Amino acid sequence: VEVGNVITSIRVCVIPGDDAAPEAMRASLRVLDCLDLPIDWDYVPPGRDLAELCTAEREALVHGQIDASDTVLFGATNGTTPGARYMRWGKLTFANVRPIQWRPGFRSPLREAEEIDYVIVRENLEDMYVGVMGEAKDLLKAGLADVRSRLPIGAEDGRFAAKIITRPGTEQVTRFACELALQRNAKLTVSAKTNMLPATDRWFCEIAREIAQDYAGLEYEEFIVDDMAHRLVIRPQDIDVLLLPNLYGDVLSDLGAGTIGGLGLAPSGCYGNEFAYFESAHGTAPDIAGMGIINPTATLLSAAMMLRYLDLNTAADRLNNAIGNVYLSGSVLTPDQGGDAGTENFADAVIGAL
Ligand code: ATP
Repeated sequence: VEVGNVITSIRVCVIPGDDAAPEAMRASLRVLDCLDLPIDWDYVPPGRDLAELCTAEREALVHGQIDASDTVLFGATNGTTPGARYMRWGKLTFANVRPIQWRPGFRSPLREAEEIDYVIVRENLEDMYVGVMGEAKDLLKAGLADVRSRLPIGAEDGRFAAKIITRPGTEQVTRFACELALQRNAKLTVSAKTNMLPATDRWFCEIAREIAQDYAGLEYEEFIVDDMAHRLVIRPQDIDVLLLPNLYGDVLSDLGAGTIGGLGLAPSGCYGNEFAYFESAHGTAPDIAGMGIINPTATLLSAAMMLRYLDLNTAADRLNNAIGNVYLSGSVLTPDQGGDAGTENFADAVIGAL
C-alpha cells in the first residue's frame, strides 16, 4: 500500500481459536498463501497452546497482536482464546455483517434456494449482550418492577437479564445498513419484537425508520421478528439487507445459514469506525475437533470479505470464484455438504481452482 511516497505493507493478525476452528484456519491459510497477497501475517498460537498461560498473560499477548495489526482473521473461541470480546466492545465494532448467499452446489434443504442472496446486519454491542444480569428480587427492591409488569408470582426466586437499546447505537448501525442497502441497490428490512417490547424493540424500529428517511430512494419495510423467521424460510428471496438487534441477529443468521446449507458456509465481518475483523459465523464445532473434516468455506469466505475491506478486490474475486468452482463441480465436498473430503482436501481443491 502506498501512503504518500512511503510503501507500507498490510499487517493481518491470524487468531486460529479453539476446538476445530484451527483446522479450518490452517487450511484457509494455505489457500490464502497462493494469492500472493501484500500481507504480513502475524500468527497467534491456537487455543490449546495458549491454555498454558494465565488469563492475564493470554489477553496481554493476543490484545497486543491485535493492536499491532490492520485487521484480524479470527477462527472461533470456546473461551480459551481471548480477543473476541476485546475486538467487539474494546474496538466498538458495532455492525456484524453476515451475508447469506446460496451458491450452486451448496446443500440447501430448501427446494428453491437459487435466489437466496441477502445480508444480515446485526447490531453487535447492545441488546441482551450488555451483560447486565441479576436477581429478580433486586428489580423489585429497586422499584423497577411494578404492578404494570407481568412479573410472575415467585419472582423473589428469579433472575433477569437486561435488554438495552440506545438511540446513538441504533442510529449508527442503521446508517451502516442503509449505506450497504444503497450500495447493493436494495431495500432495507428491519425486524424486532415490536408488539411485545415497545420500550426497546418498537423504539429500535422507530429510530431505524426515521434514519432511513435520510436515504433518498431507499425502500424500507418492517416485520415482527417471529414473522421474519417464517419469511426467511418461506420467501428468503424477498430479502436484501436485514437489520436486526443483537440477539435476533445472532439467532436468525444461524437460521439463514441453515437455509443455504449450513453453518460451514456462512461468513461474517464485524465493522466499527476504525477497525474491523472477520470470522466465520459458526462456533468452534467441538464435536468434530481433531477429525479433519470441518468445512473451511465459512473461514475462506470471511477471508474474502477481509480482502475486500483491505481493497484487495481482485484477490477477493479470485478467491470467491475458486470456491464457487469447487462447489459447482461438486466432486470435493466436506461431510456437512454430503461429501467425504477432509478439510485439507477441500483446500487443495480450492488451490487447484485458483
Ligand atoms: P457457538 O455458540 O460458539 O456459536 P455452537 O456450539 O453453538 O457454537 P457451532 O460450533 O457453530 O455451534 O456448531 C454447531 C454444529 O454445527 C456442530 O454440530 C458443528 O460440528 C457444526 N458445524 C459448525 N461449523 C461447521 C463447519 N465449518 N463445518 C462443519 N460442521 C460445522
